[in-house]
Amino acid sequence: MQLDTNCLFCKIITGEIPAQIIFRSENVVAFNDIDPQAPTHVLIIPTVHVENAGALARLSPTIIAQLFTAASDIAEANSLTGYRTVFNTGAEAGQSVFHAHLHLLGGRGLAWPPG
Ligand code: AMP
Ligand code: ZN
Repeated sequence: MQLDTNCLFCKIITGEIPAQIIFRSENVVAFNDIDPQAPTHVLIIPTVHVENAGALARLSPTIIAQLFTAASDIAEANSLTGYRTVFNTGAEAGQSVFHAHLHLLGGRGLAWPPG
């Protein structure tokens, strides 16, 4: 695992910062968002420190696929009939933590387009 000791999500991976972890594998960790925007709001992250989704896709198509597989499994476990998966990239798009993370949102109607 290549981690960044200054990164909030790397600290969640190591357990230095607590989180409600709901899934963990060699390459993927998923935990509940601390400020949920929907009844189900889970963050699904790679266990390698990488800044955003594009960089992760270039580093490992396998791991980015594993994030989506975890999202699908979690959605099914929560009996979500519809859900949204989102990567925010860059501050202008709302990215505030620069460790790639897939948002899984569901459990309510979701408007389109997003704000
Ligand atoms: P983004 O704005 O796309 O970078 O998403 C970052 C997400 O991380 C936000 O939805 C925050 O609510 C969430 N977040 C920040 N700190 C924590 C934490 N300690 N535990 C869980 N989620 C967090
Ligand atoms: Zn990190």
